Amino acid sequence: MTKLRWGGATDVGLVRRNNQDQFLTTEALFAVADGMGGHAAGEVASGVAIAALQEAFEHDDHHTPDGLIAAMRHANATVFERSMNSSELRGMGTTLTAAALVDAGGEERIAIANVGDSRTYVFAHNELTQLTENHSIPEELVRLGELDPTEVDTHPQRHILTRAVGMQPEIEVDMWEVLPMVGDRIVLCSDGLVREVSDDQIASVLRRLKEPTEAAQELVARARSGGGSDNITVVIVDVVDDDGLAAKASAEVSPTADSHPPPETEIEPEPAPATFPQKPPASPKRRRFTLRVALFVVLFLGVLAGAAGAIVYFARGTYFVIYGPAGTADPSPFATSASRPILIYQGRPGGLLWFDPTLAERTTHISDEVCPIHTDELAHGHIVSSRSAGEKFVANLVAEAQQTCATKP
Ligand code: MN
Repeated sequence: MTKLRWGGATDVGLVRRNNQDQFLTTEALFAVADGMGGHAAGEVASGVAIAALQEAFEHDDHHTPDGLIAAMRHANATVFERSMNSSELRGMGTTLTAAALVDAGGEERIAIANVGDSRTYVFAHNELTQLTENHSIPEELVRLGELDPTEVDTHPQRHILTRAVGMQPEIEVDMWEVLPMVGDRIVLCSDGLVREVSDDQIASVLRRLKEPTEAAQELVARARSGGGSDNITVVIVDVVDDDGLAAKASAEVSPTADSHPPPETEIEPEPAPATFPQKPPASPKRRRFTLRVALFVVLFLGVLAGAAGAIVYFARGTYFVIYGPAGTADPSPFATSASRPILIYQGRPGGLLWFDPTLAERTTHISDEVCPIHTDELAHGHIVSSRSAGEKFVANLVAEAQQTCATKP
């Protein structure tokens, strides 16, 4: 049985008035959530998400990777429902990153799930690696090759998330599985840590402080002394016993075991930086890092494909109804020089990334046939799920105007 030891710390920071971050540490499930929304809504979002995640994950005694994904989706649906049922909470959302000890087909794994820009790192062999991707606009642009990585920290939209828990009825969850190897540390944190403390500084604290609670508290303290511009939350989970998995993995990939040549020998580990204790090239530890890198790469590629699909879907999967420019309405008995045609576009108003909306249909109706109360919305675009939903929406607007507000004769 894999044995874990863990610790967590959170702090409001020096600038914010309340702490909208929350964290969870249980025997098998660990999570960090960074809530957003006006007044108390951010705290509600992160609290509801964490509670729903735990409830769903623990509902089934048999903890599995799929169970973690289902629990993330349950957390999303629960926050979304709460926000829909209260005008004060409408629009609230939260990041959610979670790590869980699971049974993947009879083998123990640590499953890691993420939505938003909180992070999960793996600290192994003195090296800190960010496992999760941040779902923010500039980081999506970097992944698409549209923005230089050095420009992320100053990008005007760096705090705008492209994915968050509770904003939509359904959510796509990024997932990874890592082998629990003795000595490895999993670090979950909100962006309040990484705004103030560099990855190198985080790694140096992790090398120095072995006790997880102490290390988490030290990292929070560093973020405070670095400026504390946001709420700060850190959870550290250490693998203290892996039931001989690390030793077994090393033996399996040992180059001397010539009866079973390792399939992953083609992926060589990066040369160790000079500051690390140098190990002989066939060192068991270096070899098992190779295995893990191969596993990351496979899972990572799957996630990238999913993310690209989600962006295309988000950019092109919707339609919107909008007024065209004045004076471009087709000749009609009602038209004046101020009349605007009612158009249906595929895409998002204003476009998203490089996806510009395209005209799907020029309806036979014009702005004069719609109650003035809708002018503002239709000037900016009303989003609908399909072209036929757009047609229905326009028909309803015209029908409404004929019954309840005066239109031109
Ligand atoms: Mn934050």
